[in-house]
Parts: sequence; C-alpha cells; structure tokens
Amino acid sequence: MKSLNKALPILVSLILLSCGGLTKKFNVFPVESDVRLGLQVSQSIDSQYESILLDSSRNVDLYRYLYSIRDSILKNNQLKHANDFAWRIRIIDDSTLNAFCTPGGYIYFYTGILRFLESEDELAGVMGHEMAHAELRHSTDALTRQYGIQILTAIMVDSQYNDLANIASGLTQLKYGRNDESESDEFSVRWLYNTSYNAIGAAGFFKKINALGGSGTPEFLSTHPDPGKRIENMEKIWKELGGKTGNTYKDRYLLNTRYIR
Ligand SMILES: [Zn+2]
Repeated sequence: MKSLNKALPILVSLILLSCGGLTKKFNVFPVESDVRLGLQVSQSIDSQYESILLDSSRNVDLYRYLYSIRDSILKNNQLKHANDFAWRIRIIDDSTLNAFCTPGGYIYFYTGILRFLESEDELAGVMGHEMAHAELRHSTDALTRQYGIQILTAIMVDSQYNDLANIASGLTQLKYGRNDESESDEFSVRWLYNTSYNAIGAAGFFKKINALGGSGTPEFLSTHPDPGKRIENMEKIWKELGGKTGNTYKDRYLLNTRYIR
C-alpha cells in the first residue's frame, strides 16, 4: 500500500490530464484492467440479478436479435477494443428504463427499455452509446468520481481486490460526466452512420423520454439535465457526416421483441 500511496499524486495528475478534445484522454491503466474488472464485476452483477436475468438458452431468438445489432456496430471496424472486450449481452427482466455497460464490454438491457423503445435504430443507438462508454474507458473517470482515486487504483492494480461486490452494485448506476455522455452520444452516431441504420437512433430515445416529462433517471440522463441539447448535438454530428437517411426497422423490432411484450 505504501508504494501505492507514493504513486498517487502522479496518477492523479495523469488521470486529470486531458487535452480537451475527444478521444485524446490519456488512461494510465492498462486495457487488461478493464478486461479483468469487467469480468469480475459482470459475474457479481449476474449473481445479484440471477433470479431476473433472461436465460439465454430459453430466449435464444431475442438474444440472437440483440447480438445481430451489436455485430452491425462491431463490423464498423471503428472500435479499437472490438477484440479486446467481451461485448456480451444480458437482459434483466425488470421495468427499469435503462441499460448499462461495465468496463470491458458487458452490456445489460432491462426489459423495461426494450419495451419502451419502438424501433431497431433506437435500440442500436442506445447500444452504441453504452458500448462507447466501455470502448472509451469512461469508467476510469466515473469510478474516480464515485469512489476516489485510491479505491480506483486498488481496483485497477490489485487483482485480489476484495470489495468488488460493492463496486458492482455501484456500476449499475455509474454516474458519467457530462463530457463522457456527449462523447458516447457522438460515437453512437458515428458508428451507426456506417451501418444501414438511421444514425441518430439514440435521439429517438431522448425524444420519447422528453415527452414523458422527466420521470425516472436512466443512465443516459443521469448527469445531463438537457436531453434537448443532446438531441441537437447528435443531429449536428449526423449533418456533418453527410446527413444520410437510414432505416428505422420498426416492424422488425416489434416482431423480434414480441416475446417480452
Ligand atoms: Zn451514458
């Protein structure tokens, strides 16, 4: 622990070192830390939610459908960690309007949000947003904010760190910073733009949640008070990319999610 304490000021300054621009942030922890942390945390989340996780062997079609959307995003070849991370999907049977992704790419959707969304581009947009948090390794920032640099360092460098169960429950409600949310929104649009989807599918989700009048605080809205601004930003990026119209695949979405309706 002593040498860890000595290293802390350096780590703090390195983590805070940001060039301000997108994807230029420097992460002092090796990517393997995300892989290891993600595996441990996902095991803990899986056991915590065991009784309400949709069994992948009994919901083959629904899982296959979600994985096909994930694959369209991965096929972009724009993800640096496409092969490093698990990109595994689990569905939690609960009415919560949310989705989240652990470090290392373990993606969780609540049936609540799957029922709330109305088309495949919206789901792809939300999935892209969540995957971007893992790809861009935003958890380092969020965990520092939530638990402090000392605990973060212990988690990232100590493979025997024994308080991960607590961290795991916190990860379902990880609070990302405003910049991280904007960055994930941007990447969601960029990744979807190279598919046949409407690239601003995630904006569709925000429009719908806006119409609800702020009930509930999904992960996407946790640190950003203004979904309207986020819709604007996504539309701006989409226009900069060329404003190509994509598909919503509404019928296909309703057909494939009929099992949970
Ligand atoms: Zn987010």
